[in-house]
Amino acid sequence: MNDMLDLFIAGGGAAGLTAAVYAMRSGLDFILADISSSMGSQIALTDEVDNYTGFDSVNGFELIKKFYEHAKSLGAPMVNDEVSLIEKENKSFNIKCANNEYRAKTVIYCAGATHRELGVKGEKEFSGHGVGYCAVCDGFFYRNKTVIVVGGGNTAVTDALYLSKICKRVIVVHRRDKFRADKGRVQKLINTENTEVIYSAELDEIIGDKTVKAVLLKDGRKIDADGVFIAVGVSPRSGAVKNIVKTDEAGYIIAGEDCQTSTAGLFAAGDVRTKALRQIITACADGANSVCGVTAYLESQDS
Ligand SMILES: Cc1cc2nc3c(=O)[nH]c(=O)nc-3n(C[C@H](O)[C@H](O)[C@H](O)COP(=O)(O)OP(=O)(O)OC[C@H]3O[C@@H](n4cnc5c(N)ncnc54)[C@H](O)[C@@H]3O)c2cc1C
Repeated sequence: MNDMLDLFIAGGGAAGLTAAVYAMRSGLDFILADISSSMGSQIALTDEVDNYTGFDSVNGFELIKKFYEHAKSLGAPMVNDEVSLIEKENKSFNIKCANNEYRAKTVIYCAGATHRELGVKGEKEFSGHGVGYCAVCDGFFYRNKTVIVVGGGNTAVTDALYLSKICKRVIVVHRRDKFRADKGRVQKLINTENTEVIYSAELDEIIGDKTVKAVLLKDGRKIDADGVFIAVGVSPRSGAVKNIVKTDEAGYIIAGEDCQTSTAGLFAAGDVRTKALRQIITACADGANSVCGVTAYLESQDS
């Protein structure tokens, strides 16, 4: 067990790395832990970010790398470790990670969110063998092939647009009769020659032998495809703190713009907290606001 830190930052994506920059500037004694040097950030899953101020368009992987390098250049202490459990003991926190344990007076919890499963027959069986959740990571394997994208939000449309540059044909299967995604992106999808959309349809089963060969829709239609990308939403990665903090029904940590949670000293930043807009820019804002909350909390404890 390490000495008592002022702050432990769990997660090094947009929120965590911004928190690290602000924590360095505030002179806090802290450590940031991330499973994979921030490359597990959802930002790395998108090839084109075109709504982050200051960049007309930037590759997601390049952007998170810049965030990481910025924090590193300031000397932010960062370790590769997976946070498994955070417990509160008196006024401080015990943080259990895969490789180490830490104690801290405050925690900024910002582990983001991860893809949701569709829950159809064949999904688990073909996962990694034709069923994927990250178009940017796996799209390369479907060059000149036919793929299906399941979903109707921004992630599904972004994935379909990305895959349209690699694949012969991209079919989006959406269970509603219109998209939830931004209008601009939807229009781009509709204008793209090698894409098509099947509205008001749901997958019943993914079929194949060693790899995916087709999907069956609930209305009985069979669509041949070499791959299926599932983009039906995300779930918060709040597991490590769910025993000590209030969450909503979906598991998002309840916190406002100040990132204060129901547990004194524990701040939730980025996609893992309840909020209206889950984006890079709002996660960065949370990173900054949460450090402001941490310094005020530490001062209140000293006085
Ligand atoms: C496909 C896709 C496209 C997107 N496109 C855009 C876009 O164009 N513009 C935009 O603004 N937003 C976009 N977003 C949303 C944006 O990526 C998120 O809102 C933003 O990354 C949230 O930041 P965060 O810090 O909360 O989470 P993340 O950036 O996901 O960071 C969470 C970090 O926590 C780490 N972590 C997770 N669990 C643990 C653990 N137990 N222990 C230690 N570390 C852990 C992860 O490795 C990761 O580095 C997109 C998201 C996706 C999935």
